[in-house]
Amino acid sequence: MSLNNTPSAERLHIGIFGKRNAGKSSIINAITRQDLSIVSDVKGTTTDPVFKAMELLPLGPVVLIDTPGLDDEGELGEMRVRKAYQMLNKTDIAVLVIDASAGMTQEDLRILERIKEKRIPYVIVWNKMDLLTEKKSTKNTFEKLPAPANPDAFTDEAASVHLSESHSIYVSTKTGKNIYELKELVAKQMPSTKNDCHIISDLLAPNDFVVLVVPIDSSAPKGRLILPQQQTIRDILDAQASAIVVKDTELKETLQKLGSLTKLVITDSQVFQQVSAVVPPEIPLTSFSILFARYKGNLETVVKGANALDRLKDGDTILISEGCTHHRQCDDIGTVKLPNLVRKHTGKDIRFEFTSGTEFPDDLSPYRMTIHCGGCMLSEREMKYRLKCAEDQNIPLTNYGTAIAHMNGILKRSLEFLR
Ligand code: SF4
Repeated sequence: MSLNNTPSAERLHIGIFGKRNAGKSSIINAITRQDLSIVSDVKGTTTDPVFKAMELLPLGPVVLIDTPGLDDEGELGEMRVRKAYQMLNKTDIAVLVIDASAGMTQEDLRILERIKEKRIPYVIVWNKMDLLTEKKSTKNTFEKLPAPANPDAFTDEAASVHLSESHSIYVSTKTGKNIYELKELVAKQMPSTKNDCHIISDLLAPNDFVVLVVPIDSSAPKGRLILPQQQTIRDILDAQASAIVVKDTELKETLQKLGSLTKLVITDSQVFQQVSAVVPPEIPLTSFSILFARYKGNLETVVKGANALDRLKDGDTILISEGCTHHRQCDDIGTVKLPNLVRKHTGKDIRFEFTSGTEFPDDLSPYRMTIHCGGCMLSEREMKYRLKCAEDQNIPLTNYGTAIAHMNGILKRSLEFLR
């Protein structure tokens, strides 16, 4: 897989935060050497978060997120600031850009606190060092003193913020000073656990045969497989095993031909029940959703969360949440098939509410439980954030595949191979 084809959820997400005109967009342009953001002297050019996937050395494949200004005003402005804060949930490394000639402000401090609360590795960039006075621009001052550039603008509160040299750097996008060093500093913050997980390859041996069941109905995208299917095939190949991809209609014959050679069957959750009836009990069976919950470190939570389906009462509301808005193939499961299955399973009058994309309510108290999609387009950080929200508020959370397996009575079987 070339770096350019690395799926977005697998890329390191670098969020660029700061006030309007602190120079966020110029920083992005300087480190990428491209005109990705529109740079203008008019405050607030970035009104919505802008995502750009790219290869950024020495980090490799990343997504840069250019966020709206933290000091945006008015009703719309407040909405944009909220969006900027929401982007923290997608961010693996935060870059806080501060206008060095103006100093650190309340807005900078506020987001810095949130960054620390969320334990996001960060870098503080004191931009516009070229605007500082001659006296302050001595080499030693800039390279060794991680203090605010403008002491007059620096509040007492700000002074108490601990800024260590490992988190802080002075740069000038105008002269290009310290841009290379900035990239190196950002790279040093890289979380060490990134890309250490496996979808299934850790449980396979070379030459194993794995059968993948992919129903091709009207909701399947034309001419291609969806991302979790592509990633699983690649992971199987990485284990030097063989991936055999079939539609549910060809599964029975394929299994008969393979006989005892089949190591595992992985199915799309939509046809879990039919597939379970076809796969002999001695052949392990699981689903893409369950594998991805394991891959993202959530399996235990979603399995526990599925039990809440048995405790639902008349009038309870379930939140059904999807990680993206542009994959129609999941819509049908979330808005139609899953609600029908829940009503049938519980026999109760259950209400449903739906969210998609970056929308995920901070307050989950109106819901008895949450059923989330597989989250293949969400970064590990964002998925963990959603799970943490649910856990903190004591609201059970499960995912589509686990919920469907539970309601069809095949969850235990679906987990056996993974334990
Ligand atoms: S809805 Fe969820 S599982 Fe489906 S493609 Fe989007 S992120 Fe992936």
